[in-house]
Amino acid sequence: MIVAIDGPAGAGKSTVARQLAERLGFRYLDTGAMYRALTWLAMQRSLPLGDGEPLGELARANPVTFDDAGRVSIAGTDVTSSIRESRIDRQVPVVARHPAVRAVMRERQRELGQQGNVVIEGRDIGTVVAPDAEVKIYLNADSATRARRRQSERPDIGGDALATDLRLRDESDAVRMQPAPDAERIDTTELEVDDVVTRIEQLVQERLAASQR
Ligand code: C5P
Repeated sequence: MIVAIDGPAGAGKSTVARQLAERLGFRYLDTGAMYRALTWLAMQRSLPLGDGEPLGELARANPVTFDDAGRVSIAGTDVTSSIRESRIDRQVPVVARHPAVRAVMRERQRELGQQGNVVIEGRDIGTVVAPDAEVKIYLNADSATRARRRQSERPDIGGDALATDLRLRDESDAVRMQPAPDAERIDTTELEVDDVVTRIEQLVQERLAASQR
């Protein structure tokens, strides 16, 4: 079974998807980390981020890997912490918008998604990567709440700069952020993580029960 969790930055995707995967005993796949790792590598090699084809080739030649503890590596380097820096936050949509990059990522994400039960989080999982996912969720929250949540993860930058970064990233991601029409939408503004996880877990159990009937 595939559980697709999409939504903008700060909506709670990672926290919810991780905890859900743990409760269900499913694997967890963070597709944002894959785009982040590629962006890190392109910047490390000083490649121009506006050229799609070379970035697509870079992605093909350097698959992103996750170990059992969830550590992220690319081209032999553990980039788990570096990909969370704000310089990566700012550049990742520039890299992620190239069709050549998305084609490689989509293929790899589908391969990783085929290996048994998995929770996949991203922006286009329910629409493009796994349109047949048995459970599709679209998480959202109001922009002040999303900025506040991001702030606790990025104490290095000020609140105003962070809110601006988030807005710019939302705008450039917006073309890929459309919810799947059949996704269950959950506004997490007023909800605790645990409540969101429980709600999705119920949906998963219902689908599992329906498939066994
Ligand atoms: O989810 P996260 O904030 O780590 O995603 C980082 C960026 O990667 C997003 O802002 C977006 O530009 C890109 N992304 C994407 N498609 C996905 C996941 C992430 O374009 N499925």
